[in-house]
Formats: sequence, structure tokens, C-alpha cells
Amino acid sequence: MICGTIGEDYTAKFEIPKPLEQLQESEMERRYHISGVMTDVLGYLTYRFVESGFEWSLPVVFSESTDPLWPDPGASIEKRIDVEIYGKTVRTTASMIIHKMVACSLLYPRLFILSPNVRIEKRERAQTGRHTYEFTQLDFEVRDASSRDIRSLVEEVVCGLIGDLRRDAVEELVYLGRHRTLKTPEAPFKVYDMRELEKKYGKEWEQQLALEITDPVWVTSIPREFYDFEDESGKWDNYDLILPQYGEVLSGAKREWEYDKIIKKMERDGIKKEHYGLLLKLAKEGRLKQSAGAGIGIERLVGWIVGAQHLGETQLFPKIPGVVYDL
Ligand code: AMP
Ligand code: MG
Repeated sequence: MICGTIGEDYTAKFEIPKPLEQLQESEMERRYHISGVMTDVLGYLTYRFVESGFEWSLPVVFSESTDPLWPDPGASIEKRIDVEIYGKTVRTTASMIIHKMVACSLLYPRLFILSPNVRIEKRERAQTGRHTYEFTQLDFEVRDASSRDIRSLVEEVVCGLIGDLRRDAVEELVYLGRHRTLKTPEAPFKVYDMRELEKKYGKEWEQQLALEITDPVWVTSIPREFYDFEDESGKWDNYDLILPQYGEVLSGAKREWEYDKIIKKMERDGIKKEHYGLLLKLAKEGRLKQSAGAGIGIERLVGWIVGAQHLGETQLFPKIPGVVYDL
């Protein structure tokens, strides 16, 4: 048993999820029901996005460019993975933000990807229950969309998903003790400005807010990576979706598309421009289009729905920071 502290103000007690072959029969049954919810969630989300005119692209694992994850107040990376193949250095996907910006500009005005994200989180993050070192995002992007458009779309999808599960996954939700407590949220969700939250709660605003809310809420204006849009006054046009008790499940933004601005932000943040050659080339040629989008952490979404204490419970092969199982 590991006792974990999430933020400074509340503690959580949970067992680090075991690998499949070590599960007792009752634990196997719990995992089985969680997997049932996972199947329903993936089925619903992919159906809704395809139905809304999104192209469904397959993910990549190795590329020259990936998400720098910097500067992001939430990031905590112990190691970055660079590998040499065919005489070139490539990185494992930390998120497909760069790929979707490029694909959305050049080919698909609306696209989504179920994308593997590899992030070697610091090992103490095993104790948050909210981090794994491999996870999946439903990453999507829409050309010419505003932040408000994306937030409305997400609200529709989240409310639809919970309503659908309450109807069609009754057996699983009852078994997991969530059928009574998981309520279909009401849209529109409340919107908070991060700067106000920081004034009220300090640095641990996310955990404090998550403890106080009973429905998902939006937090906007979060200073972070170069690709999120920032206006001349320094206000960021981005958003996180925060789930009750669970915390952040989605990050998204309107994107930067202008070459000079991207370069300035990369220089300000100490980002290696040579890792973003194609993105910069397209921006310089004026081929990068305006877009907005988001990425939903699938394990966190399912973890919240099923009431998992640790996200590893939602993974068939748990990838817990600091713990490397055989599979
Ligand atoms: P980010 O690009 O860091 O904003 O991540 C997008 C989404 O992926 C987050 O909102 C989470 O739902 C999820 N996520 C980020 N890091 C992790 C992690 N280490 N383990 C599981 N899910 C994560
Ligand atoms: Mg985030």
C-alpha cells in the first residue's frame, strides 16, 4: 500500500495497480468492468467525432518534432527519449500537437487521432494516482474554429457520453459503485480564469478547485507552450477541463500560426528551433492555418467515470511512474 499526497492539501491512500497476472479473482472482475466502460467510452467518442465530420487518423510513434511539454506548469519529465534511426535523431511522441496542426493546415479541416503519449514522469508522480508514463489522448483539431466552438463541442460530447453510459453501461457502473454518483453534467460548464483562481487558492488551484466542484468546469488563460495563442496583452486563449475530484482531463487552445510570433515565443522559452523545422517552414510560407483544438486524456476520463483510485487501473498493462512491469 502506498499513501500518496495529491498537492499539499489532501492525501489519498491507494494501492499501486498490479500487473494482470498478479490479480486476484475479485480484482480481475473489477478490471473487467473497467475495461467494459473503456470500450463504451472509446466507441462513443470515436462515433461522435466521425459523425461530426472529423477524419480519424492513425498515430505515429517516432518523429523529429514532438510536444516540448515546456513551459507547462503541470509538466514533470524525468527523461526525454531520443533515438537514432537511419542516421536521424527522432523523439517518441509526447503528444501529436505538431502533427495535428500540420495535418489540419494542409489536409483535414477537422481531424482526430487516438494517440499514444510517452512521458517519463518523475517517479514520485506514482503517488498522485493521476499519472502514467504511457497514456492515450484523443487529440483533435478544427481549422478556423474559436476556443468557444471547441468548448461547446466538448461539452456536448461529455454530456452525451455520460448520458449514454448511464443508459447503456448500467451493469458496469452499478458494479463499480458509480451509477448513483455519476450525474450527467449540464452545459454550458462554468468558466474560471486561472489568474483569479491563483489569487484565491495559490499554486495548488487545480486540486482545490477539483475538490470544490460537482460538475466539470473550464479554466482559461493558462501560460504554457508556444503553440497556444497569446494576444498582445499577454492573455492566453486556452482552456483546461477540470473534473470533480479528478482534476485536469483535457487541455486545448486556439493556436499560433504566425511565423514571427512563434519564433519569438520559442526564443523566450528556450525551445530548440531545429526540432520544429517543418512547422516553422510552413509558418514562414504562410501555409500554417488558424485552428483550435484539444486533447482528452482517455485514462483520466475513464478513471473519473469508474472512480479509479489510480489511473493504472484503467490500463490493461499499467505504466506507473517508476514501476516497470514485464508487459
Ligand atoms: P497535456 O498535453 O499535458 O495538457 O495533456 C493532455 C491531457 O492528457 C491531460 O489533460 C490529461 O488528461 C492527460 N495526461 C497528461 N499527462 C498525463 C499522464 N502522465 N498520465 C495520464 N494522463 C495524462
Ligand atoms: Mg494540460
